[in-house]
Amino acid sequence: MILKEMTSEDCVDVLARGHIAHLACARDHRPYVVPIQYAFESPSLYGFSMPGQKIDWLRTNPLVCIQVGEIENNEVWRSVVVEGRYEEFPDNEQWHDERLHAWSLLEKRSNWWEPGAMKPSPAGETGKTVAPVFFVIHIEGVTGRQSAAGGN
Ligand SMILES: Cc1cc2nc3c(=O)[nH]c(=O)nc-3n(C[C@H](O)[C@H](O)[C@H](O)COP(=O)(O)OP(=O)(O)OC[C@H]3O[C@@H](n4cnc5c(N)ncnc54)[C@H](O)[C@@H]3O)c2cc1C
Repeated sequence: MILKEMTSEDCVDVLARGHIAHLACARDHRPYVVPIQYAFESPSLYGFSMPGQKIDWLRTNPLVCIQVGEIENNEVWRSVVVEGRYEEFPDNEQWHDERLHAWSLLEKRSNWWEPGAMKPSPAGETGKTVAPVFFVIHIEGVTGRQSAAGGN
């Protein structure tokens, strides 16, 4: 197995091909990681969420780390790590165009909203109407490592 650093261009290709990431945020020196879907439009990642722990934490500390992987098996994989900054598009007239733009990128994938919109609810509890959160991750740094069995 060969291990090598990826070029910025190769990292961007992985981000563009992918749509599932691990998003890490931190509050009070404690990390929190969840899988999310994203849409990539250079140089940013766009996402969607319902309010909850990660949004609370991101509002407190907008610095994030995001990992996207392409894993064929133990010996053939690519992994890209992004350092970025979270910015929310509030649900008001001022941010209307940004929300629409994020929506238009995300909706290119079918059922894009489903995992982000679902929350476990106790039996018998009816769903409350809560405004979704659209956001952008401004990419501030990116690194990638790649392994290949035959040096591909
Ligand atoms: C393939 C995939 C795609 C997803 N895409 C999105 C997306 O685009 N947007 C989005 O908002 N969410 C997405 N999710 C769901 C996401 O991973 C979170 O579960 C969800 O957003 C709730 O996070 P929260 O911080 O609001 O949790 P809350 O509902 O506030 O709950 C917080 C508590 O639940 C636990 N918890 C929350 N989520 C998880 C989890 N995934 N695994 C284990 N424990 C958990 C936390 O540890 C914490 O104790 C996706 C999940 C998967 C598997």
